Amino acid sequence: MKTIIQNGTIVTVADIYKGDLLIENGVITAIADRIIPEKDVHVIDASGQYLFPGGIDVHTHLAWPFQSTGTADDFVSGTRAAAAGGITSIINFTNPKKGQTLLDNLQEWKKKGELSLIDYGFHSIISEYNDHVLQELPILAEQEGVTSIKLFMAYKGELMVNDREMFKIMKKAGEVGIITNVHAENGDIIDELVEDSLSNGNTDPIFHAYTRPPITESEATGRALSIAEAANASIYIVHVSCADALEKVEQAKRRGVQAFAETCPHYLVLDESYLELPDFEGGKYVCSPPLREKWNQDLLWKGISSGLISTVGSDHCPFLFEGQKTVGRNNFTMIPNGVPGLEDIFPIVYHYGVHEGRISLQKFVEIISTGPAKLFGLYPKKGSIGIGFDADIVIFNPNVSRVISREKQYQNVDYNLYEGRVVQGAITRVLSRGEEIVRDGYVIGEQGRGQYLFRKKNSNIETRVTC
Ligand SMILES: [Zn+2]
Repeated sequence: MKTIIQNGTIVTVADIYKGDLLIENGVITAIADRIIPEKDVHVIDASGQYLFPGGIDVHTHLAWPFQSTGTADDFVSGTRAAAAGGITSIINFTNPKKGQTLLDNLQEWKKKGELSLIDYGFHSIISEYNDHVLQELPILAEQEGVTSIKLFMAYKGELMVNDREMFKIMKKAGEVGIITNVHAENGDIIDELVEDSLSNGNTDPIFHAYTRPPITESEATGRALSIAEAANASIYIVHVSCADALEKVEQAKRRGVQAFAETCPHYLVLDESYLELPDFEGGKYVCSPPLREKWNQDLLWKGISSGLISTVGSDHCPFLFEGQKTVGRNNFTMIPNGVPGLEDIFPIVYHYGVHEGRISLQKFVEIISTGPAKLFGLYPKKGSIGIGFDADIVIFNPNVSRVISREKQYQNVDYNLYEGRVVQGAITRVLSRGEEIVRDGYVIGEQGRGQYLFRKKNSNIETRVTC
């Protein structure tokens, strides 16, 4: 099966240029000014449109049990939403059960992933330290291609590990070429502030933010980075929400720590005031870390521009408003923490980043595709448009605008964080390994066609040079 995409403007981290692409058996095999189609070649005309490498979202929580409920998207609805939103690969978090080995847990998650429409991989969460965990890490990396794990510094009793456990796990991870994702919030301080807040009768959604102030994130971020430094390990701070935490990343990078940071679209576009919306609407915006004061946004965008932030992940952790979020109507601690965003990450970052002049087209490609591919062992198979890369391509018309609304979304949620916003540009087609999975904005790919992503090991030297 051959496909030619003609007349598009190809965007990579290195270049922006007009050209034709030849795709054979799912891989890009030629790029030239003009490629003349032979007989029986499928031709797509992309005149006036950009060709971006498919988005890679390394932060999703599909089918994820959490806080005595579960996320609203599974691998069926979630990966359809991803495709519609220009995402062609995801790395989802597993969630271990008490007493279960990481490898057994991974097999359960790989089974769930078989329903996926796009390519998928996993980060293994480690919430319980024991000697088995250390023995399993090299097997995860070598035999399963799981070259990233995740540790939590908050959610005590559910996910949190202590400093000593973090150090031991990260040390081993560093030795075997695994990068550690860290959720950096000081769980102990937060638990204390939450108790105080409730005892004072402060139960509205805004108190979710007041009980997780920036210092709880920046302290934990700094500590995590120091632990990584002591352990000689690569670390990836997920969902950096505020300037104070970003400052810690900057300091660590200056010291030579193999430290990388991610932010999320909601921290770039939304702020703390959304938690104060009346009639419990604020409950829709409860996520951790919480939305911050608006001034932080500017510094996050600058962090992207300067390279301090390497990726934007959606942290797609969707819960229905009716029936899941509303459980916490009278007590913010009962509101499940998480927001939807997998379908919107690409258009939101394009609109507020590129269209509004905060970042360049090339930086957009870097944070939405190339950066995550390099950091998480997918490059040079995914993450760019070039000969030999998988033909994961988003065809994007920058000359039209559209309105984001929950009525048109594939995400299985009864609201959208960006409801009613007009964004510039529209995804017209998406190809995954050369196969059209989105046409005219509609998902046409089949469920279950996604492939498991066996990822390369993390190399400190490689990430230092490339990110
Ligand atoms: Zn998350």
